[in-house]
Amino acid sequence: MPSSEQSADGVTRTNGMPVLGLGTWENENPEQCADSVETALEAGYRHVDTAQAYGNEAAVGEGIAAADVDREDVFLATKVWISNLAYEDVIETTEESLEKLGVDAVDLLYVHWPAGAYDPEETLPAFDELRDRGLIDRIGVSNFEPDHVERAMDVLDAPVFANQVETHPFCKQTELREHAEEHGYEIVGYSPLARGAVFDDDVIGEIAADHGASAAQVSLAWLRERGVTAIPKATSADHIADNWASRGLDLTDEELERIDGIERYDRRVHPDFGPDAWE
Ligand code: NAP
Repeated sequence: MPSSEQSADGVTRTNGMPVLGLGTWENENPEQCADSVETALEAGYRHVDTAQAYGNEAAVGEGIAAADVDREDVFLATKVWISNLAYEDVIETTEESLEKLGVDAVDLLYVHWPAGAYDPEETLPAFDELRDRGLIDRIGVSNFEPDHVERAMDVLDAPVFANQVETHPFCKQTELREHAEEHGYEIVGYSPLARGAVFDDDVIGEIAADHGASAAQVSLAWLRERGVTAIPKATSADHIADNWASRGLDLTDEELERIDGIERYDRRVHPDFGPDAWE
């Protein structure tokens, strides 16, 4: 993964994307959302993930503005919802997103799902245009299977920078990770704590106890070692700090392999949103 190795500070990949981000889905109370973004940035996070569909872009923007961190040091990502994927809608709703976020540009703009109004020839040229206009720095996709990614690569002028998909010890995305390495894009792992399911897994619990670490930290350390950029959602200052501390947790090869071997289930925790639902 030459383009995505971690740089010496352990915070940012050599391609500029911080290796651990803050997720914000269901962080809907505006004050709480702004507070958690501010707290995370002041704790050291430099990557914030939101989406049009989360209804919190304004609060995320407030949190970024309130933090004692320069905007240019924050890697900000949002996503265009599936009903907004016709050409003009991509342009107009992204301009609205920037206004809500209170920024001139975002670092990464994703197609949220290849569903709804998504049509590669219609949708993706609008992403290229936004990039040409300097309103977005990189183009991402989310919930794309390998064939969707390859189609997007054919249509886009710009590279596909990242594919954001559910990734955690019970949904390892092994094939997609290999595809990403082969085709030179990043995997951003959502629901990296399996929405709480990592807390009652025996293997993860044993490894956590051996290190005096939390199960969340073990899951995040495994993702980091497997080349995945994780974006755990955390609302409280304690969870935000706990997840950030995963950066200092080094698992042994044997521990990483034990987690690779977990066969609890290998399915998405969002089955309703899976490929069967969008095709
Ligand atoms: P997640 O990050 O796996 O889990 C979040 C849950 O874990 C919350 O209930 C949170 O509680 C709790 N938590 C966080 N840190 C903890 C800790 N150290 N100890 C104990 N509990 C902890 O799930 P997610 O929100 O589904 O995924 C993360 C982000 O990925 C989302 O917020 C969103 O930005 C993105 N996402 C993207 C898509 C997509 O289609 N692209 C889909 C789903 C998610 P508190 O809130 O109380 O801290």
